[in-house]
Amino acid sequence: MIAGIDLGTTNSLIGVMDAGFPILIAGEEGERLTPSVVHLPGPLVGRAAARLRVVQPANTISSIKRSMGRDVRFHGKNPEEISALILGKLKRDAERALEQTVSRAVITVPAYFNDGQRQATKRAGELAGFTVERIVNEPTAAALAYGLDKLNAKSKIAVFDLGGGTFDITILELNEGVFHVLATHGNTRLGGDDIDNALLSEIEIAREGDPLFTARLREAAIEAKHRLSLEEEARIELPFAEGETSFSHLLTRAGLERIARPIVEKTRGHCLRALADARLSLADLDQVVLAGGATRMPMVRRLVAALFEREPNTSHNPDEVVALGATIQAGILEGAVQNMVLLDVTPLSLGIETFGGLMNVIIPRNSTIPLKAGEMFTNAMPNQRSMLIKVLQGEREMARDNWPLGQFEIAFEPGAKGQARVGVQFEIDANGILHVLARDTKTGAEKIVAIQSAVDVSDEAVEKMLGDSVEHAFEDMNERILTESKLKASEMLAAVRHAFGIIDLSAEEKRKVEVLAREVEAAMESGELARLKKANAALDEGTQRLATLLVERAMEKE
Ligand code: AMP
Repeated sequence: MIAGIDLGTTNSLIGVMDAGFPILIAGEEGERLTPSVVHLPGPLVGRAAARLRVVQPANTISSIKRSMGRDVRFHGKNPEEISALILGKLKRDAERALEQTVSRAVITVPAYFNDGQRQATKRAGELAGFTVERIVNEPTAAALAYGLDKLNAKSKIAVFDLGGGTFDITILELNEGVFHVLATHGNTRLGGDDIDNALLSEIEIAREGDPLFTARLREAAIEAKHRLSLEEEARIELPFAEGETSFSHLLTRAGLERIARPIVEKTRGHCLRALADARLSLADLDQVVLAGGATRMPMVRRLVAALFEREPNTSHNPDEVVALGATIQAGILEGAVQNMVLLDVTPLSLGIETFGGLMNVIIPRNSTIPLKAGEMFTNAMPNQRSMLIKVLQGEREMARDNWPLGQFEIAFEPGAKGQARVGVQFEIDANGILHVLARDTKTGAEKIVAIQSAVDVSDEAVEKMLGDSVEHAFEDMNERILTESKLKASEMLAAVRHAFGIIDLSAEEKRKVEVLAREVEAAMESGELARLKKANAALDEGTQRLATLLVERAMEKE
């Protein structure tokens, strides 16, 4: 039996297939949603920990998912170990309910999780005693939950997922039971938590140095926010907040919407970009479905309806769709659900650094996984004995602006410049985890490295990457063209020097080429792109005869 798990920022859920249907399992307290909260040193997990958050906020950890893949510690434990405590509780709850051991699991992650964060999630599952069969993107799982009853329809679906901590928009195509992700976009720091923070800073009366009050107020404010999804008014009340006096604040839906609007509005641009990436117009979409607790807010539903020009499908419980989808995926792996294959995409491009500090993309963003792709590289220097493979993730043209995922050296037989043949292959498995293989194709010597190291980048950086690539597109492209022109110039200059050594040219001809070569050198020095391009072209043109002579000479020799 394989369990499906939604390891959420705010809440987590676990489910299993039962006689062909996904069911979500309630914990000891009768609730299917387990707050993703851990109290240490206990450890206490879930509702019990969430209650202690109010009285002992310093020992209570929530939203640990936001730190996944980062090198941080809370009470001596890293984010994987803390997440493992949450997964361990879900495992025990499932085992108690099912009266059998549950040792295999499918776990979901946001579409924007990078490789390091996926690895960290997988390890958290393993620490909790699971064999992690699959890591699945949350919006893909949600679509799976909605798509189950429409197996034969050929349709395009947008999944709008606004949870506690992250926002994702994913566009999928469902075709004869096969899911295919067309595009995915999002923001790893956008969700209901931000609405809570904005709400709190609006209503909090100056009470610095009273964390207990603030924690109680937060709980009460969140509860009021939830009520306002159904009602027009909600009162936040904290009896005996300060000895005798009680705290009371009336919140209206209109008031909440005014506070939440700037946060909710941020989803708009991502949706438009995802549609553009998928090369779809609104009319091409068949369905818009919702996931994530924050999509219960009427204003979010209104925004989605206006943006996509149709009412979103709300037939499933938005808190539960991801877990249901994970459970269905578990069913597919168990063989309980048939006729469905899940295809996912890479959210950011993957590549390696090449000559001149350029990013050489091997797997472009939005490629369908699992997949393999490779390229051949050579040595820039004569007698080089090894090559450093720097694995990068990101959308920028220059290697230095992308994230280093890891690096290793591959040795090869030394020889003249351009003689080595090193094949570099990237393989992304079904969990979205990257394996890099480098092989000296002459000797067959190879190295395979699973990119294990968690990438210590802040979550903001993840979402910044896409924005930056658009913002700097022009400079980046210019720098790439300049770098490439410089590389071309160096190559031509070296070739000219080499040719002068073996071909006898008339003094006049030689002088002409030298003038052109000096201009290329000066243009390289100046860093002026237009001048360098012109100089390169002139040298190229001016050495045509030299090139012909070289070829003839080579043929004579044979
Ligand atoms: P998730 O990450 O999907 O569990 O979503 C959690 C987020 O949804 C939190 O920010 C919750 O406060 C929010 N949420 C849950 N229920 C509601 C509701 N009824 N109205 C508004 N927001 C809600």
